[in-house]
Amino acid sequence: MTVAADFETLYGSAPDGVWAAPGRVNLIGEYTDFNDGFVLPLALPHTTVAAVSRRDDGVLRLHSGDADGGIVQLGVDALEPLSGGGWAAYPAGVVWALRAAGHPVTGADVHLASTVPTGAGLSSSAALEVVTALALNDLFGLGLTRPELARLAQRAENDFVGVPCGVMDQMASACAQEGHALHLDTRDLSYRQVPFDLAAEGLALLVVDTRVKHALGDGAYAERRAGCEAGARALGVRALRDVDAAHLPAALDRLDDATVRRYVRHVVSDNDRVVRVISLLDAGATRAVGPVLTEGHASLRDDLRVSCPELDLVVEAANAAGALGARMTGGGFGGSAVVLVGTDGAEEVGAAVRKAFADAGYAEPGIFPAVPAAGARRL
Ligand code: ADP
Ligand code: MG
Repeated sequence: MTVAADFETLYGSAPDGVWAAPGRVNLIGEYTDFNDGFVLPLALPHTTVAAVSRRDDGVLRLHSGDADGGIVQLGVDALEPLSGGGWAAYPAGVVWALRAAGHPVTGADVHLASTVPTGAGLSSSAALEVVTALALNDLFGLGLTRPELARLAQRAENDFVGVPCGVMDQMASACAQEGHALHLDTRDLSYRQVPFDLAAEGLALLVVDTRVKHALGDGAYAERRAGCEAGARALGVRALRDVDAAHLPAALDRLDDATVRRYVRHVVSDNDRVVRVISLLDAGATRAVGPVLTEGHASLRDDLRVSCPELDLVVEAANAAGALGARMTGGGFGGSAVVLVGTDGAEEVGAAVRKAFADAGYAEPGIFPAVPAAGARRL
């Protein structure tokens, strides 16, 4: 294995072990995870692999084959949140979060290599955090559960790196199962593996990476989050997940602020779309999921307003070429979309999206089928 061999070249001895954690795409349930709501992600075959050895002298050495620069060396006692450590802040943040929770992590040598595209909305950051957390959990015998590791990884990203993400990405990377989507309740982190065997039904889920990331996204996430919290306060509920879709019209009537009203309508309706998609999957009616995806996209575009011209074009071109449905996935303002398509039409739909991008003068998108893969594991 080249990751282990590269580790040995870097650090002078073989690693104690090698772990892998996947990136993810979210099928449905967007911006619901900071509203205590439901999400339905699946793990990708793309993984971040970490070769790791335990150390007991307080030294943390980090290296990534995917980042410029050499080994980053830190002291575990001196880790400071938001200290501008670049990529190394993600794994260092995991060590910091583990130690802050009282777990005796006394140092490590880490070498990483990843096939998860970075910055494409496919959660290379969560893959990096989760693989680090799982390796340290095993090497230091911490005995933490997958949801506990996901929470600590989220804390690393929120409080050490300084990105206010929800917990979906880390849970998907830590808990997903091959051939399944993960129905996660972000209120209590309970989950169920929902069978999602696309190939058996003659279907494919294409991921379309637009290869753009609009700067607008940075402040927009915090603004949407604040708007949703304002909505929950105005409605007197703990979180928007407590508003039943059947009571949405009445709830909207009680909101004065037009922006908050749009945000509430998105979150409550998207939470309900997760429930509807799961019912369809459980009933073996996977093709019928398509229109629900497209409905979800319209809600993200028109109500939450987190889409962008490139993502809208993917959805429009794919549906016009015969896809069953499509939506942006992840935080929006660029990143990726998912397209549900019959296997025999996949080629044509991909070509139509590529042509639409070329005609619009956009860079060529990256397109690949998402095959529901396994969550984090020791190799
Ligand atoms: P996403 O999670 O959608 O890929 P993010 O902006 O959240 O995008 O995370 C991407 C960042 O995570 C990169 O800029 C880099 O700092 C870090 N990262 C992810 N994977 C790796 C890796 N294999 N090696 C080094 N850094 C990585
Ligand atoms: Mg990320």
